[in-house]
Amino acid sequence: MFYVPCSMNKQIIILFGAPGAGKGTQSELLSNKTGSYLFETSKILEREFARAENLSENSPERFIDFDNQKFDILHEKDLWGKGILCDPPFVTYLVIKEIQKLFDEGESLILVGSPRTLYEAEKIMPFIENIYGKKNIKSVLIEITPEQTIYRNSHRKICELIRHSILFNKETENLTICPLDGSKLVRREGLDDPEVIKVRLKEYAERTYPIFDYFEKHGFEIKKVNGERSVAAVYKDVLSAIR
Ligand SMILES: [Zn+2]
Repeated sequence: MFYVPCSMNKQIIILFGAPGAGKGTQSELLSNKTGSYLFETSKILEREFARAENLSENSPERFIDFDNQKFDILHEKDLWGKGILCDPPFVTYLVIKEIQKLFDEGESLILVGSPRTLYEAEKIMPFIENIYGKKNIKSVLIEITPEQTIYRNSHRKICELIRHSILFNKETENLTICPLDGSKLVRREGLDDPEVIKVRLKEYAERTYPIFDYFEKHGFEIKKVNGERSVAAVYKDVLSAIR
């Protein structure tokens, strides 16, 4: 891991919110508007899982060493599939590596899905503060109730082609094809099953919530936005929150 001096003008937007809060939809809108790179931790993990699945059982590449521990990528995939967060050092290692690469390429970022645990926040926040500068880090929390999380996730669909997540609400309930690329909308198996959603919700309350204290203590402001409204109304508030 190496550090380079603060950049000028490049920024990081961090979007927080329980499963189903609309982070995916809002981050896509933001990315289109600002040209910032959409950094979705779930996609990085899925890419890593797919890579590991094609390796032989004893391949050294199936394991990641970080913070004096060794992580089996396929074990992490098991946790993920059950709605349990992956081991924080494993995620942190991948996220820091990817952020450094994108920073070197001159990208501004929108983080969705990181940090998700206190461990990850404690490692990632000093790291991005160092390279992007504190004043260039903006955080927004999209708030919804646990009931809404369960309702939205159990109805949620994704597109077959790019796995765009389509937020479930009045405007989208009858959609059958992806409005962005025209591919068929399907259910996301596993992660959006009701039992798995309950686990994800518990993980969010127990493991992501402590991050907010960390942010406050370290002077990272989090602006709150009411997520139980139309996509357009939430988006308007998200835009003013990052201004
Ligand atoms: Zn799509």
